[in-house]
Amino acid sequence: MTAWFMDNDKLNPLMQTDATSISVMSIVHSTSVDGIGLRNALYTAGCNLQCEHCHNRESWDIESGTWQTLEEVYDQLNVDFFPISILGGEPLMQGDAIIALCRMIKERTAKNIWLWTGHTYEYVQSHYPELLSYIDVLVDGRYEEDRHDETLLWRGSSNQRVIDVPKTIQTGTIVCLDD
Ligand code: SF4
Repeated sequence: MTAWFMDNDKLNPLMQTDATSISVMSIVHSTSVDGIGLRNALYTAGCNLQCEHCHNRESWDIESGTWQTLEEVYDQLNVDFFPISILGGEPLMQGDAIIALCRMIKERTAKNIWLWTGHTYEYVQSHYPELLSYIDVLVDGRYEEDRHDETLLWRGSSNQRVIDVPKTIQTGTIVCLDD
């Protein structure tokens, strides 16, 4: 049975790396497609979700990236004033390191952070609650081919949500940017 058939909440939350380095696929500066405005984007290597119709299979192997320290990743993302986007692969496969990186960004800058994950908001809330205190927008959920919609912004299928995290925490109910 492939991981695609597994319930999201049954995936092993401990399947992650240490918190001192990140396997990086690429870092892109001033991109206009990963959130609102121009942003600097970190693409992490490794994905353990294995969605059936994934268009990004080259990112599944965490060793397909280059291991970099948190300070190295931070420095490359913060060469200018652009806000930050974090995508995969599956960033939460390196959850502890991503939390540490986001904490550094929020402690040292006033930048907003968008993060894409194949997990749901509820899963992140349960397994990585600290992360939500650093994230401004969480784009959640797996890519589902039968719900593909090219008209959607920042996501590929209609099950995925573009969640305003501070408002969601404040109200106690999911608030999406397009609500
Ligand atoms: S979460 Fe994203 S990268 Fe991972 S298998 Fe699904 S579509 Fe591919």
